[in-house]
Amino acid sequence: MSVTVEEARRVLFARCARLEPENVRLLDALGRVLAADAVSDVDVAPFDNSAMDGYAVRAQDVAGAERGTPVELDVLEHIAAGAWPEAEVGPGQASRIMTGAPMPGGADAVVMVEYTNGVGGDGGAGGRVAVERPLTGGENVRRRGEEVSAGDVVLSAGDVVGPAAIGLLASTGHDTVDVFRRPEVAVVSTGDELVEVREKPGPGKIRNSNSYSIAAQVSLAGGVPLRFPIVPDDIEATRQALSRAADEADFIVASGGVSVGDFDFVKPVLEELGEMEYCRVAMRPGNPQTMGSIRGVPFFGLPGNPTSTYVGFEIFVRPALRLMQGFSSLDRPVVRVILAHDVKKRPDRRYYFRARLERDDDGRLVASLSGRQSSALLTAAHRGNCLLVLPEGEERFEAGSEVDAMRLDTEEGTP
Ligand code: AMP
Ligand code: MG
Repeated sequence: MSVTVEEARRVLFARCARLEPENVRLLDALGRVLAADAVSDVDVAPFDNSAMDGYAVRAQDVAGAERGTPVELDVLEHIAAGAWPEAEVGPGQASRIMTGAPMPGGADAVVMVEYTNGVGGDGGAGGRVAVERPLTGGENVRRRGEEVSAGDVVLSAGDVVGPAAIGLLASTGHDTVDVFRRPEVAVVSTGDELVEVREKPGPGKIRNSNSYSIAAQVSLAGGVPLRFPIVPDDIEATRQALSRAADEADFIVASGGVSVGDFDFVKPVLEELGEMEYCRVAMRPGNPQTMGSIRGVPFFGLPGNPTSTYVGFEIFVRPALRLMQGFSSLDRPVVRVILAHDVKKRPDRRYYFRARLERDDDGRLVASLSGRQSSALLTAAHRGNCLLVLPEGEERFEAGSEVDAMRLDTEEGTP
């Protein structure tokens, strides 16, 4: 009996606990989920400062300034970024100021240099400047604490750390941060037919490609792949490999050996070492998706056909690994797309067809199959950028009709 995709995901996710936090160097937090609120140790900005290169003035002094009737002010000093002002700006006075430099006392606005002219000189310290524009109080001034105040939470637990968050964490003194740990994922490929990639396959043999494609998917999902040596179709070898995987990893992904073949030992060994929750999901490609746990470590057995492996990983393993890393959005965006051509399937189960989305001239998303759909072939997955999600119970989809597509080129959480 097959379970539905939704039921299979629900049971898997229930077995996947979020991992504990770890303290990492700031840049190693990129793309990960904060495990604790990050508090600022300073005000950002730390002082009122100029948003422009120009002159710090008292807005009231230049209230009537226009191009034809400029207001002339005495220039006290030249304040560079990184310097500290020495003079208070009084009536009829200004200080030349650069972007990011601290505002001098007395001044409450900055006039851009473009609206000024030096009077009988360059408008530097000791000279005079003509201001050709009125200003409102606070204009071109960035306030102390505008971004965040000392002691405030700058980023919250659960936030995903992108480049802007890295910048905020850096400006608030976070040399290291607490993020949820990346799952270490044992990648176990089974099959007597498998040889290493560097070998030329002899009679009846093929290269162990799944180990690599799965490891790549694990990395993209934020996990750390631990590629195990090829496991022959032998019950004792399977037992040893899965037992070791349970000792060493946070999650076990197996490929192959979960079907009804005479040499498929993954299921019996899973039942012997741990528990099996299900071994069939009503989907294609990849009906024999197998899930369980070994000594508390979640186990997911992907069928060996390369595309069944690829699709099964996307639908089940990737969201599970995200859950373990504390992400709140688990699913790739699903969008409505227009079929470029007729598509047929069997009505008994849900299909995930490898397809490519393009925009037509009217800006509509149009999908076409990206190659032959045999589950032994990976080219369509390579050329595609989405999976068409074709529901159970239906059989024929005509060109021009709308279907769901799960975008594989777009991050989870994208509307
Ligand atoms: P299985 O699920 O073990 O019955 O394998 C199904 C199909 O996938 C067979 O044609 C296998 O040869 C192929 N296969 C199994 N494991 C791998 C692998 N690691 N890399 C590439 N193909 C595989
Ligand atoms: Mg096999």
